[in-house]
Amino acid sequence: MSEYVTIPLDIEGVKVNRVEVTSNGEVHIHVSSTVDGTRCHRCGRDIHHRYDEGREIKLRHLPILDMPTYIFIKPRRYLCDDCPGNTTTTQHLPWYEPRQAVTKAYAKHVLRLLVNSTVQDVSKKEKIGYDEVEDIVEDRFGQGVDWSKFKSMPTVGIDEIALKKGHRDFATIVSTRTEEGKNRLLGVLENREKATVKAFFLSIPKDLRDTVQCVCSDLYEGYTEAAREVFGENVEVVADRFHVAKLYRKEVDTLRKKEMGRLKRDRFNR
Ligand SMILES: [Zn+2]
Repeated sequence: MSEYVTIPLDIEGVKVNRVEVTSNGEVHIHVSSTVDGTRCHRCGRDIHHRYDEGREIKLRHLPILDMPTYIFIKPRRYLCDDCPGNTTTTQHLPWYEPRQAVTKAYAKHVLRLLVNSTVQDVSKKEKIGYDEVEDIVEDRFGQGVDWSKFKSMPTVGIDEIALKKGHRDFATIVSTRTEEGKNRLLGVLENREKATVKAFFLSIPKDLRDTVQCVCSDLYEGYTEAAREVFGENVEVVADRFHVAKLYRKEVDTLRKKEMGRLKRDRFNR
């Protein structure tokens, strides 16, 4: 496969050694690190004394041509010459978390798919275990948001996800819709309680909070009350996204009609 197409791999610090498509339709990409050195986990010094390679890890990554895709890497290990007892540290690259089975990009992809969907649907669509989807959800709990990336957030979506495994019944996914109509993930909350949702809304910087015009959620009271209490009584709360899609279409429609009118006028005035 690699002989015919070049796949731009959207991760840094690696070179691709081999790409194969397995008989069961998976893409396996074998990579190795091109980053030199790491920080000693004991003394914090930069260390460059190569030791050996760690055990190969397998990470689920974004699908290529709709095929489940995995990245294989043997993390480099380094020896610290200053610490006693052959202290070694395993290098890890910023596009995955140690001890997680997926790349950060893939985790985000799954969380985005969960907006307005269920764990079951996503599990089926992605050919990934139900538990793995839940793991991705739980790993994201409590992670902060870089609000500086957002200039305005006219629409905020709140979805609940039913969880089966573990001790929780529900989690909440908060997202926003960009002007291009793409869903962007804001946060994953540990339950669906009003206090939790409200605290998250209050963590949005005031300037940004003031740009919220519409909150889409199923009409679960905890969500809608939290939205009204934080964004004010004037915020529009709608039951589902289709309503919002309709609003967008209506705007486009109005524009189209105007444009048609202008064209007709132009023709007759000629
Ligand atoms: Zn050290």
